[in-house]
Amino acid sequence: MARAPRLFVVSGPSGVGKGTLVSRVREIRSDLGLTVSATTRQPRPGEVDGVSYHFLTDEDFDRKVEAGEFLEWANVHGHKYGTLRSEAERNLAAGHSVILEIDVQGALNVRTVFPDAVLIFIEPPSMEVLEARLRGRGTEDEASLKLRLADAAGEMALAEKYDEHVVNDDLEASARRLCAVLDAHEMN
Ligand code: ADP
Ligand code: 5GP
Repeated sequence: MARAPRLFVVSGPSGVGKGTLVSRVREIRSDLGLTVSATTRQPRPGEVDGVSYHFLTDEDFDRKVEAGEFLEWANVHGHKYGTLRSEAERNLAAGHSVILEIDVQGALNVRTVFPDAVLIFIEPPSMEVLEARLRGRGTEDEASLKLRLADAAGEMALAEKYDEHVVNDDLEASARRLCAVLDAHEMN
């Protein structure tokens, strides 16, 4: 049966493994479209402008908000992040499903614009594992780490609004489960 392209939204607390999991799913599903978000946060070492994110100044970001270029945007952990409408629409028009890896506020905003979007929440096996992963990643200073862990509780409280839930325990098993969720909705 033919797949229908769908807009998937993946959220979960910082450090749960969204980026890692979605990268693995992209290896399995090379047909998935790629959208690069915009952000006002500083690039981390190794992040490339236009690949990891479009890194924008506050002024440039605000200009795009004014021009209606974002499908959604939100303030997350002290910085602005947004999905460019053009990137998502280009992929869907070409028949490719899209996975947006965005925060909980952005996800719920997407649902108002695209009611057919499928919202998937990635859960940590425990809060201890979440903290260990975030620390183990070694990208955040103590203040940013504390902010992200403090934000995690509020994010987890919104999980019930999501259509699907995947616990990221074993990476390979979780990637398979996420792929199965995508398949099920594309065949609908
Ligand atoms: P997020 O994108 O949700 O902030 P990352 O993908 O950056 O999270 O993952 C955070 C850290 O946890 C990384 O160091 C990553 O290698 C690790 N990680 C991700 N998924 C798993 C997993 N299933 N098991 C163990 N470690 C994981
Ligand atoms: P990070 O700074 O670790 O790359 O991302 C921090 C948070 O911003 C994550 O929860 C991530 O999902 C979210 N995020 C990334 N891109 C977007 C986006 O385009 N829109 C929204 N709303 N959130 C985003």
